[in-house]
Amino acid sequence: MTLKMHRDLVDRLESGETAEMGMEDSFNFACDDRCMGRCCNTIKIVLDPWDVESMARHLGITGREFIENFCALEDDPQSRWPYVKLSHVENGPCVFLMEGGKCRIYPARSRNCRTYPVGRAVRFNEDGTKEEKYFLVEKQNFCLGHGSSCRRTLREWLEDSDAPAYYRRSDQYFELIHYVNTVLQAGRWLNSRIARMIMPFLYGPEVLRAKLGIPEGEAGHEEFYERRIKALKVLLTELAAGFGFGPLAKVPDGEEVEDAGIMDRVGEILLKGEEPR
Ligand code: SF4
Ligand code: SF4
Repeated sequence: MTLKMHRDLVDRLESGETAEMGMEDSFNFACDDRCMGRCCNTIKIVLDPWDVESMARHLGITGREFIENFCALEDDPQSRWPYVKLSHVENGPCVFLMEGGKCRIYPARSRNCRTYPVGRAVRFNEDGTKEEKYFLVEKQNFCLGHGSSCRRTLREWLEDSDAPAYYRRSDQYFELIHYVNTVLQAGRWLNSRIARMIMPFLYGPEVLRAKLGIPEGEAGHEEFYERRIKALKVLLTELAAGFGFGPLAKVPDGEEVEDAGIMDRVGEILLKGEEPR
């Protein structure tokens, strides 16, 4: 889901067009063998970097190989931000749907797959606060799960599907996109060359680890994910400044900021988790 889709959803939830759920609200749902996998036939699933990393590790391949083999790339029409979505076989089912309707990568399935039928919309505000809202996605006729007698609260549903950990990583990513779109005005300068350049930060941790010699023992997957997001924010802020946008475009006295050493700074963040003093 793109940032715009999140914003539109929050608007619909605020207007009451879509009903919001509280953590203690309960609903009936359990997957049903009779419709197993029908939900994976036509659904479009946009993946976060953490989804890609988890799925690739589960399959024992690199993020780059995962994207080449199982994903399609799309640029957001407004910001030109590169989004990754799961491939379908010629408008058919998800590439990971097996015969019998089972998911080939179930333990590592994406954030959206694991929380269905619960949806979540996030909005980042100018004052730095974040709003999150939960709802039940529109019922599909083919989905028999809603007829189950199994009743759980939203809180239980999210905890059972390990959603909070996925939401945390996803929010770090969406906060970055929000910053890039609003503060850095990416739509004015982001191009396909820059989009290619940032791909390893988003989807290729192994590329950055190899380049800088950072073994997993030194920075675990979660830690390295946070470093990548932080490093990318610094890199994009500097790039935006070169095009005349963002907080570093001009210093208060009107002087251009020097951008020398940016790759060293980015490298330091990836190596140590923080910028050099
Ligand atoms: S109950 Fe719905 S979500 Fe579950 S397998 Fe069937 S179609 Fe998919
Ligand atoms: S990743 Fe698994 S659960 Fe998600 S759409 Fe594909 S087959 Fe279905």
